Amino acid sequence: MHNDLTGATVAKAVNNGAFVAIVGGGFSAICLAAHLHRQRTAAIDVVVFERATLASGTAFRTSEAAHLLNGPAGNLSAFEDLPDDFADFLADDPAAAEFIEDATPIQRQFVPRTLYKRYLERIVARLRAPSPIGTTVRFVRDEVTDVVPHDGHIDVVLRDGGVARAHHAVLAVGHPSAQALGPRLGERFVIDDPWNAAAIRAIRTDAPVAVIGSGQTASDMVLGLIANGHTGQITLVSRRGLVAQPYIHVDRSITVQRDELPRRLLPLMRWVRSTSRRLAEQGGDWRALINALRPHTQDVWHGFSTFEKRAFLEHLAPFWHMHRTRLPPATAVRMQELRKRGQVRVVAGRIDGASPADDVLELRIRRRGTHALERLPAAAIINCTGPCWDTSDPHNQLVGRLLSSGVVRWDDVRVGIDITPDGTPLDRLGRRDGRLSAIGPIGKGSLLEIIAIRDIRVQCAELASRLVRSRELAQRPAQAPPHDVGTALSPAHAR
Ligand SMILES: Cc1cc2nc3c(=O)[nH]c(=O)nc-3n(C[C@H](O)[C@H](O)[C@H](O)COP(=O)(O)OP(=O)(O)OC[C@H]3O[C@@H](n4cnc5c(N)ncnc54)[C@H](O)[C@@H]3O)c2cc1C
Repeated sequence: MHNDLTGATVAKAVNNGAFVAIVGGGFSAICLAAHLHRQRTAAIDVVVFERATLASGTAFRTSEAAHLLNGPAGNLSAFEDLPDDFADFLADDPAAAEFIEDATPIQRQFVPRTLYKRYLERIVARLRAPSPIGTTVRFVRDEVTDVVPHDGHIDVVLRDGGVARAHHAVLAVGHPSAQALGPRLGERFVIDDPWNAAAIRAIRTDAPVAVIGSGQTASDMVLGLIANGHTGQITLVSRRGLVAQPYIHVDRSITVQRDELPRRLLPLMRWVRSTSRRLAEQGGDWRALINALRPHTQDVWHGFSTFEKRAFLEHLAPFWHMHRTRLPPATAVRMQELRKRGQVRVVAGRIDGASPADDVLELRIRRRGTHALERLPAAAIINCTGPCWDTSDPHNQLVGRLLSSGVVRWDDVRVGIDITPDGTPLDRLGRRDGRLSAIGPIGKGSLLEIIAIRDIRVQCAELASRLVRSRELAQRPAQAPPHDVGTALSPAHAR
């Protein structure tokens, strides 16, 4: 998908100081832009800055059909108040036809993530036309290297040298990469970016492969390898050896009131265990309980002490995520088959070291709960250990810059940046600046559950309605013709 403007021209085009700058062009950014475009109270200008390709963040870069969305289509509309938006898109999209079964309502189906990318691209296409009241959304292909608040405006500094003066900036920079294993284990064997399709395809089909991690990404890697005709042994290695639970539709849902939930971590965990047991005794499913907790998890997390948050992340998070983020049914069934026939095995342990031997790397795995070392030869090691903020990684330069200038600070468990429940980052001294917001996974340490589409879309809807109520942004009356950035561009600038 082509972007409209370059950074150098955007400053000229929208430098009226009254636009919303969104940094990032993944799901979070597109969802927020779409919610702003739907507002009917005030016409505003929105500029989305994406350094690479729109709608192609970590979740949607894959083109592998075996990589499925982990929820049914009916749960994944970008708009909570239009629950069938994604399912309706699928019904109309010719590319979706081969993945849709006639016998099941589309809302209940699990489709490839590539179709979600197409859905986001369709939303982007619609955003290119001004809204009925004149709200405009423009897309710039450039990296934001700094965001600098001033009195009355906020500067968005671009890699190509432009500086755009915004009224409000939103950080929607998504997931950081996993901590690289290549430098520690051997660059020749390690694939640190599991979404690098060319590197995955280049693995010899009969080679032994080690996948480090056992969450959804690890299952995706297994299914991607199998789709490439892989016949060699695949070993998943993770600290606890836990594999995500399968998604099962829950017919009998339950409701939990916030007041029922203990506020401290240990009593809460006991409560979850006993309630889940009671539910099972009554013929219910634990998934109903996990679903019922969802509306409260951000608030519960917010109430925990730093000690409790650390304890949760260290000891309980893997169990929580295995139950909370479930595998698409087809993925779970396939994984089970592959494990049964022995091609895939799961090992609980840690990597203790590695040494190259001819065309393989021999990993030494210390099995969980023992001193025993297992030798695991692997011709390729795929890093699925999950995101980790490393500010020395050039990919995370903006966040590193904002942390060092004190515009933002780490959250207390250092999983992301410190934000308030409404998504406002706190600066080094703990002060909030109403001109800056952060949406999506960067707020994970503050909100815990802000990764999934269903959580992010709520955050985007709330932020959009707050932004259009802002006096400075709403100064342009509804129905006024939007200023035409197109005229500020020479054709050479359009990409
Ligand atoms: C593998 C995977 C599978 C998932 N599957 C599901 C699922 O099935 N269902 C579900 O509900 N959720 C799923 N999720 C979670 C959810 O979809 C993601 O959390 C969500 O897409 C995050 O979107 P984002 O825009 O915040 O981040 P991203 O998609 O990572 O996008 C961030 C974008 O910001 C750009 N960017 C970063 N820094 C800058 C900068 N300085 N300047 C300019 N651009 C910048 C990046 O290039 C990138 O395009 C999945 C997540 C992953 C990782």
